[in-house]
Amino acid sequence: MKVDLAVEPLDSWIDTNGKPLIIAGPCSAETEDQLVETARQLAALGEVHVIRAGVWKPRTRPGSFEGMGEAALPWIQRAKAETGLPFAVEVATPEHIELALKYGVDILWIGARTTVNPFNVQEIADALRGVDVPVLIKNPVNPDLALWVGAFERIAGAGIKKLGAIHRGFATGEDTKYRNVPMWQLAIELKSIFPHLPIIGDPSHMAGKRAYLNELAQMAMDLNYDGLIVESHIDPDNAWSDAAQQLTPKAFGEMLDHLQIRQVESPSLEFQNAMDKTRRNIDNVDRQIVEMLAARMGLVERLAEYKRDNNVTLFQPDRWTEILKTRADLGKKLGLYPELVEEIYKIVHMESIRKQTEVMNSTTV
Ligand code: PEP
Ligand code: MN
Repeated sequence: MKVDLAVEPLDSWIDTNGKPLIIAGPCSAETEDQLVETARQLAALGEVHVIRAGVWKPRTRPGSFEGMGEAALPWIQRAKAETGLPFAVEVATPEHIELALKYGVDILWIGARTTVNPFNVQEIADALRGVDVPVLIKNPVNPDLALWVGAFERIAGAGIKKLGAIHRGFATGEDTKYRNVPMWQLAIELKSIFPHLPIIGDPSHMAGKRAYLNELAQMAMDLNYDGLIVESHIDPDNAWSDAAQQLTPKAFGEMLDHLQIRQVESPSLEFQNAMDKTRRNIDNVDRQIVEMLAARMGLVERLAEYKRDNNVTLFQPDRWTEILKTRADLGKKLGLYPELVEEIYKIVHMESIRKQTEVMNSTTV
């Protein structure tokens, strides 16, 4: 699928001076003082381009803080006036959009719990028709790329061109180190479907804990993301939502200082030559891998013919256990990530069973 959206480049609607876009602010707007003071301290860092805050909070369970709603919108006007920075909020209904725009919110984002529902996304799209506002779309809560893609198609279908993706990680139902597993490959796949779509990393909602913010933000930068959205609060421990993952504006400034922003390409000729050569070598190795897979499949086919002609069962569990173990051991010895070889062999084995079933059910010629 290749349906590039009519995306306007990020720097056509926000000036970041060639640097990654930095959006920061509290998870929620709680009080006028909390919001304005957080915004002021963030602006003082001189590195933040947009302030964020949740005004309507979609909570998984009722009873948690659900946001201040319209009452917080005048505080946003004050924060904007005092910092001179544009402001982004999450919207989930046409009414949110109407109110946010009425109070001068500059950028809208669609949250993870909204992206999962095509009805909601379509309602939002219909409300956005004819409006020229940047819209960022967070990945859906669950790792379903089609839902994310569909949300872009719906919003772009309403004529929105200032678009961006926010990658905030996925809930997998498993107990994991991070609150939401990044699954970087899904964001990379989104980018390969929409090559011109800017992508912004949200290390806060991936991490769930302050301690993991740095490594996740660095990873996003290493993957050449166009920016970051990070939750920052003047008093994180007492935040009314997402307390464990927010950090003070000061700590956020330190985090930004330690972030390494690598160049996409180096202008040095020597570097270019070394890269070209190594890429050619990788191409060669990849060709060999694919040729070897084809050779292995050829052998599997022969094996299946013997089994069929001698009336032997297709699946022999002991043999499979031995294959998995010996290959994984070899991988480990060669310094490969232990699960890599195992995962590859599980896929190879699945295909090999499919092939053998095909052969066993064909008639002898
Ligand atoms: C948020 O940004 O505060 C938020 C609710 O995030 P998400 O939609 O990613 O859970
Ligand atoms: Mn939050």
